[in-house]
Amino acid sequence: MDRYVVFGNPIGHSKSPLIHSLFAEQTGQQLSYTTLLAPLDDFAGCAQGFFQQGLGANVTVPFKEAAYQLAGHLTERAQRAGAVNTLVRQGDGSLLGDNTDGAGLIADLTLNAGISLKGLRILLLGAGGAARGALEPLLAEQPSHVIIANRTAARAELLAARFSDLGPVFASRFDELTEPVDLIINATSASLGGELPPIAPSLIKPGRTICYDMMYAKEPTAFCRWAMEHGAAKALDGLGMLAEQAAEAFLLWRGVRPDTAPVLAELRRLLAVV
Ligand code: NDP
Repeated sequence: MDRYVVFGNPIGHSKSPLIHSLFAEQTGQQLSYTTLLAPLDDFAGCAQGFFQQGLGANVTVPFKEAAYQLAGHLTERAQRAGAVNTLVRQGDGSLLGDNTDGAGLIADLTLNAGISLKGLRILLLGAGGAARGALEPLLAEQPSHVIIANRTAARAELLAARFSDLGPVFASRFDELTEPVDLIINATSASLGGELPPIAPSLIKPGRTICYDMMYAKEPTAFCRWAMEHGAAKALDGLGMLAEQAAEAFLLWRGVRPDTAPVLAELRRLLAVV
């Protein structure tokens, strides 16, 4: 059986085995996909052991940068992101590292939610791995501009400088942001603790601004609740991004892109009952 895993620590909560087993069933592929708890101090050893036999892997917190270091070759988007969430063993045994998170976000926004990003004023909150992975694909959609705001302002400035060759991208402090934007993407982990980045409600133009939280939960996240309270046109969570980044990885491994709609519906159903 062709073997795939997702590396993480912790990893017990991961929905990836369920997603990939549904993809395999749907596309008639024979494969096994399980979680693999890698030790915090030896991701490389654990991954090398797995790839003696295994064909591919996803990588999640906290190993995306270690996977970037481990990969012998990188796709351009992984190079830009500085992080790898998908590894593929190639014919000669070397490892190709890719990053499908950003593509997953764009697919969720454009295909699932039907939002055209062209010409939009986008505010990206956060400057960690997820924000970094999102920037290249976001700029490729030709928004009017992307403003990055982050708790540690210097990280936002660094990120804006790093991507400025790809389109209009600027850094801003939270307290300088007052004018409404068209799309706010929360790529901070603030929602994990039920917190909000310090942003003014005036950033939302009621009935027009769309808010997207990369995090998802059974109940609407703190950010989604804030968005709806202030009249956002839509408040979307990151469950679709999760399914779409997985579909991109599946395509890379198996050469077929699964239909995410029924899988996303099943994930949403299961999330509601756990
Ligand atoms: P990182 O740890 O790399 O970055 C975290 C970011 O959040 C940093 O910019 C940090 O700011 C900021 N932050 C943390 N706490 C707060 C707070 N209380 N207030 C304001 N800012 C805060 O995490 P990732 O980039 O990997 O992940 C970010 C989020 O995206 C997570 O919620 C994760 O679950 C989600 N995600 C979802 C995916 C999906 O498929 N749906 C895929 C990948 C990520 P500072 O720089 O100041 O520390």
